[in-house]
Amino acid sequence: MAHPSKMMPAQKLWLDGRLVPFDAGQVHVLTHTLHYGLGAFEGIRSYRRPDGSGAVFRLADHIDRLFASCHIATMVIPHTRETLVQACKDTLRANEMTEAYLRPLAFIGDGGGFGLGSLDNPVRVAIAAFEWGAYLGEDGLKNGIRAKVSSFTRGGLNSSMSKGKICGQYVNSVLAKREALKAGYAEAILLDGHGHVAEATGENLFMVRKGVLRTPPLSAAILDGITRDTIITLAREQNLRVEESNIGRDELYLADEVFFTGTAAEITPVREIDDRSIGAGTTGPITKQLQTAYFDLVKGVPGTEKPTHPEWLSFV
Ligand code: PMP
Repeated sequence: MAHPSKMMPAQKLWLDGRLVPFDAGQVHVLTHTLHYGLGAFEGIRSYRRPDGSGAVFRLADHIDRLFASCHIATMVIPHTRETLVQACKDTLRANEMTEAYLRPLAFIGDGGGFGLGSLDNPVRVAIAAFEWGAYLGEDGLKNGIRAKVSSFTRGGLNSSMSKGKICGQYVNSVLAKREALKAGYAEAILLDGHGHVAEATGENLFMVRKGVLRTPPLSAAILDGITRDTIITLAREQNLRVEESNIGRDELYLADEVFFTGTAAEITPVREIDDRSIGAGTTGPITKQLQTAYFDLVKGVPGTEKPTHPEWLSFV
């Protein structure tokens, strides 16, 4: 993806309480988070509905998770949840966007101490919006991607705080992603220290075997993904059995279907892992069924006025 500033020069972003020109989103090199990684972010999508309006998907849940990440990170956001929910919508409106990716970031600025233990620096919040297509590619979304089990381990429960989207923790994800890309795969799957499947670099993982969906439990070192929760809800509404249980690497090889869930990656089928085809090596029927249900939900269905989960949509 090109740098957001290259895509839409007239953009505005929200910074510390107000909308500012996109180019005003600059920080000093002594910004604390830039050095030590203590900060938190979110990734949120807004979709264009059939009537031309825009709806942000599970906006309040994403802002709640930003506050949860900051709570874990001992950062106090100097704004209310309501302010940040409104700020996301204002950023979309200011850029005349209906379909966009929103990136709120809470970070520790400069202007206090500089040491690891400095407590005086301001907590700042930025929200940017930009267009971002299928994260793992249009072809990946349709036909599935090839993934590789990473040589990097997912941080242990007491070393990384997996329930927070904490900036510095993404070094682990970026290293795994770069390793996978350089080896010719689209995504990496990380195992935990015991060898159980955790998640991908920016997605949760589901497998299907004999009609039953399985995904690692929240007690594992995984993010509490909002798309993961959405898929569990949709699957149960369609009377599919969902189990949250530990998964071994070889169980993935023997799965009928595997797919990733994430705000950016949406529902991306995995057709191959470590050069072994998964099931028939194409998008499986349950993956397809859930992917369709997901897109119907977030984008709306032409001719259908009533959304199935109105509580998850924030109209812009
Ligand atoms: N795991 C990790 C490590 C992530 O960064 C993400 C993206 N936020 C996810 C899972 C998926 O979470 P969500 O469905 O809430 O976007």
